[in-house]
Amino acid sequence: MEKLKIAIQKSGRLSEKSLELLNECGIKLSNGDRKLRTEAKNFPMEILFLRDDDIPQYVEQGVADIGILGENEVWEKDKDVTIIEKLGFGSCRLSLAIPKDEEYTGLDYFEGKRIATSYPRILSKFFGVKGINVKIEEISGSVEIATGIGLADGIFDIVSTGSTLLMNGLKEVEVLVKSEAVLIANKNLSREKTELLEKLLFRIKAYKNGQGRKYILLNAPNEALPKIIELLPGMHSPSILPLADKGWSSVHSVINDDDFWEVIDELKMVGAEGILIIPIEKMIR
Ligand code: ATP
Ligand code: ZN
Repeated sequence: MEKLKIAIQKSGRLSEKSLELLNECGIKLSNGDRKLRTEAKNFPMEILFLRDDDIPQYVEQGVADIGILGENEVWEKDKDVTIIEKLGFGSCRLSLAIPKDEEYTGLDYFEGKRIATSYPRILSKFFGVKGINVKIEEISGSVEIATGIGLADGIFDIVSTGSTLLMNGLKEVEVLVKSEAVLIANKNLSREKTELLEKLLFRIKAYKNGQGRKYILLNAPNEALPKIIELLPGMHSPSILPLADKGWSSVHSVINDDDFWEVIDELKMVGAEGILIIPIEKMIR
C-alpha cells in the first residue's frame, strides 16, 4: 500500500501546530522524537521534517506528496505546486517598514531606495507592477536590523504583532500581503495518494469547522421557540425536544464564538433557561 508523504517544518513557528493538526485528525505518530522522518501508526502516512524553505521544492519534485508551510514561502519559492487548503494558523503579514522618524509619503517614497528582505521575489514583483525602482538587498535573517547597521533604507519582512519593528526603531508603512499556513500538494499524485489526501482533507475540514463554534443547549417555554429558532439557526435548523414539564422544550444548536454573548442576552430576554455552551471537537457538515 502506498503511503502519503507529508513534509512539515522541523523546528520553528509552524512545527507544533502542524503536529497538533495531524493529531486532531486522529493520526498518531510512531515516536515522539523528531528525526528526519517518522511514520504514522494508524494512517498510511510518512512524515518528513524539513526546513520550511525547502518544502515547496520537495513537493514539486514529489520527494514529499504534500506539505504544510506558510503561504509566504509558497509565493516566494514560486514552485509548481497546488495550494489545497488554508489551515487557520500561522497568520502573519508581509510589510514594508522604515525608520520611525522618517516621513512616509506613500509608495513613491521607495523610489531609488535600498530594501532588505528574505522575500526578494515577492518584493520585486510588487514594485515591478507599480513601476517603482528599488534596490533589493537579499538577506536570510535578522532583517529588522538592516536599517540600523546601514545596509538598507527600509525593510520588507514578516510582521505578526509589530513589536519587533518597534524594538528596532521601525514603523510599518505598507502591508503587501497576508499569509497563513496552508496545505500544498504535488500536481501528479497517484490515484491511491489522491484518495489518501481526500481522506486527510475531510478530517482537516471537520476539525476546522469545529474551531470557532460552540454547541448550545437550553430550555425554553414553547411560545419563545419561534424567536429562538431565528436566533439559533444552527447548521440546518435546531433540534427541539419536549421536556417532561408541559409547555417547555429543550433546544440544541450550534453558534459561532463571535456571536455568542450577543445571542445569549437575547435568549435570556425571551425566557431561555439553563443555557449550556459546550466546545465542539469536530464537525461534519
Ligand atoms: P526554518 O528553519 O524552517 O527555515 P524559519 O526561520 O524560516 O524556519 P519561522 O520563523 O519558524 O521560519 O516561521 C515559519 C513561518 O511561520 C513563516 O514563514 C510564516 O509563515 C509564519 N509566521 C507567523 N508569524 C510569524 C512571525 N511573527 N515571524 C515569522 N514567521 C511567522
Ligand atoms: Zn525558513
